[in-house]
Amino acid sequence: MVLWKRESSGGSYIDLWALYEPRNFIDKANLISGLKMLEIGCGKNDITSTQLRHVGNEKFEEKLWHLAMEFYNRSLRLAIKGSENVGFAYANRSACFLKLKKYDQCLVDIELAKNSKYPPRLMSKLEKREAECRKQMKKLSDIEPIVRPVLSFPPNKNFPCMANVLEVQSNEEYGKHIVAKCDIEMGEIVMLEEGYVSDISSSDQIRCHTCKEPEKNFLPCLNCTDVMFCDHQCMESNEMHKMTCGASYYRLKGAQSVVESIVTAVTAFDTVDELMNFVERALCTRDFDSPECKSDAQINYRMFLKLLGLPKKTDPMLEILKVYQLVLSIPTIKRFFDSKDKEKFLMHLTFQHFLIIKRNGITVDYDLEGLYNPIEIMGNIFSFFNHSCLPNISHTEIGNELVALTILPVSKGEQLFINYMDKKQPTRERQLHLRNSFEFNCKCSKCVPRVEEGDFSKMQTDPDYQFIRMFYQTYRLEHKHRLILKEKSKKFLQKYIQFKWSEQIEYASVCFSNCMLKDFGLQFSI
Ligand SMILES: [Zn+2]
Ligand SMILES: [Zn+2]
Ligand SMILES: [Zn+2]
Repeated sequence: MVLWKRESSGGSYIDLWALYEPRNFIDKANLISGLKMLEIGCGKNDITSTQLRHVGNEKFEEKLWHLAMEFYNRSLRLAIKGSENVGFAYANRSACFLKLKKYDQCLVDIELAKNSKYPPRLMSKLEKREAECRKQMKKLSDIEPIVRPVLSFPPNKNFPCMANVLEVQSNEEYGKHIVAKCDIEMGEIVMLEEGYVSDISSSDQIRCHTCKEPEKNFLPCLNCTDVMFCDHQCMESNEMHKMTCGASYYRLKGAQSVVESIVTAVTAFDTVDELMNFVERALCTRDFDSPECKSDAQINYRMFLKLLGLPKKTDPMLEILKVYQLVLSIPTIKRFFDSKDKEKFLMHLTFQHFLIIKRNGITVDYDLEGLYNPIEIMGNIFSFFNHSCLPNISHTEIGNELVALTILPVSKGEQLFINYMDKKQPTRERQLHLRNSFEFNCKCSKCVPRVEEGDFSKMQTDPDYQFIRMFYQTYRLEHKHRLILKEKSKKFLQKYIQFKWSEQIEYASVCFSNCMLKDFGLQFSI
């Protein structure tokens, strides 16, 4: 392992490029030219903007409203300030919002179009749409209110994003982990943590660059073509983008969180020496508390540095060097690391951040008409949740926040687990994946089952279970259906939870989780 290796004792860190280059000079040449390619054709351009709008119109004809909206957003990001294309993009997007029955947003877009040189010759079309929208709004009576999740308990003293019914413990077997301080019922929100870093670069960029909310009345960045914001507040409050607007990393999938974590670290210190000392001390001490931290930014950064990284045998050097080049191309960073030795430190720091984020980042994804919208979020406290194949916590995101919800009854002293796996995989593959990626043998009740044969048939014929199986899909419909489904699954799980894992228990807990998430207006794939 070459991470944090020095050229000589007390000397500077080894040059990872020099180590890599002799064997792989062709890769290096390809990498540099690949990074140059990211810079080509990324300026504002009305011709491309028009073409993208036309593609959007085709998708609209095909009734693919989300996809059409995505092309109108792209067209908007490329449109030159003050051109007709801006008005067209807003106006066409308003038609998508109308089709999606998002009437408030439709009206906002119509207003934006009117204020953005939408051609007067077409204004009657826009006015007709506005009238139609207002007519539809009047007809609406029973729109289900969407409840924004909040913690179900007062916050924990040390970690306010976590409910006070939980505590962080540490032991040899599990490392840092989260335990219940008392019995907790199903359906309680026990953590709501804002991401320390998040990455939307693998998505089709249909989220606000600041709060990461999807499907808003986005405004484009006035300088670059990469990002959009929900409103002026999100635009003006984004200090990160002020430093990185126009940088190439926005166009390389999966690079955003690592690059931005470095920028976050750098801005927490006045000088590069302070940062270097801090990192070296944090990495070589085992203690958890942080007496040397001078600000919240430093406390958070220290927590981040103390998280486990990917297993040491993972060595994605080329990817890391690529991200390092992108970090160094940001002017603020380049100025900070102003000598060869400091640059070498930055290489290792990028490596360290990469390993931490790739291990602890949580990807939430759902598919809207073939439009992928994944977001990877990493929360410092959320990373303390260990894995179980039968988790008692269901997790998802709301914008830039990670949400943890209990989906099984939890007893005092029990550990809380999330599921790290994104697909239902057979036991052997699942265990192999956990061993390779996270270096542990899963001993959850699904991997080491304890249920007797007789219990399965009892669960299978239980009337509550039969009901859940029969009416499972109705959770997508109205609130009243979900209420009954939630009650039935809760009753069933409370009855049989002492058996830990069975297919029926897993089924009921997934059903309960989906009902809860739907209550919060969240998309969730089963
Ligand atoms: Zn926003
Ligand atoms: Zn920008
Ligand atoms: Zn397991």
